[in-house]
Amino acid sequence: MIQINNLSKSFGDLRVLENISTEIKKGEVISIIGPSGCGKSTFMRCINLMEKPTAGEITIDGQNILAKKADVCRLRQKMGMVFQSFNLFSHLMIIENIMLAPLSLLKLPRQQAYEEGLRFLEMVGLGAKAMAFPDELSGGQKQRAAIARTLAMKPEIVLLDEPTSALDPTMVSEVLAVIRKLVASGMTMMIVTHEMKFARDVSSRVFYMDDKGIYEDGTPTQIFDAPQKPKTRAFIKKIS
Ligand code: ATP
Ligand code: MG
Repeated sequence: MIQINNLSKSFGDLRVLENISTEIKKGEVISIIGPSGCGKSTFMRCINLMEKPTAGEITIDGQNILAKKADVCRLRQKMGMVFQSFNLFSHLMIIENIMLAPLSLLKLPRQQAYEEGLRFLEMVGLGAKAMAFPDELSGGQKQRAAIARTLAMKPEIVLLDEPTSALDPTMVSEVLAVIRKLVASGMTMMIVTHEMKFARDVSSRVFYMDDKGIYEDGTPTQIFDAPQKPKTRAFIKKIS
């Protein structure tokens, strides 16, 4: 589904990612772990075109997304992104936040956008909060609303960058439960997370990032129980 060839990214003189090549298949759930500053967010942001890679190729469903002629809007629609901070518009009700992109980008009729939005809100357990404003929601509820907003665009892959790290510990589990539901639905996903138990449970594959790239790539059992390379071993030892 997504093919990455020799992806590199620098910020000025700072080389953050070097020659990453990998493939993400439909239905895979990939957790990305690794030390702070190793480039996890940058890697995701390159895939999602929020950062322009310095070099390399990314193709999605056979389309080179870095080509000059690429339809960036259309490609972005295939990839939903969930951030650590929820980025809801505070002057809009939750349902309006959810309807915004389907109305303006997918050009859905208002009634359809409303009905679908409500369905996604129900899926994340927030049907009753459709008419509330973001400030009236808890952190966990805001993040669940942000996930519903992402789903409303019917993405083919959902990228989540530390979706629970801004939350009070008491609210982490409700958001993880929604993400588990998404996994169970067969959604292709990439998740940067520090929730190692969760990563072990839900992922089909884990990337340990270090040394400017995917340092080790394996199943959760391989990475968490039997890491092969020294830095992965040291990291797993430190966090367990
Ligand atoms: P964390 O676990 O703390 O979120 P990360 O693995 O997501 O870290 P990135 O945010 O991808 O790390 O950052 C990788 C490196 O790139 C860091 O050294 C960071 O300072 C640098 N960096 C990231 N974004 C920019 C930017 N817009 N301009 C300059 N440097 C940046
Ligand atoms: Mg990050």
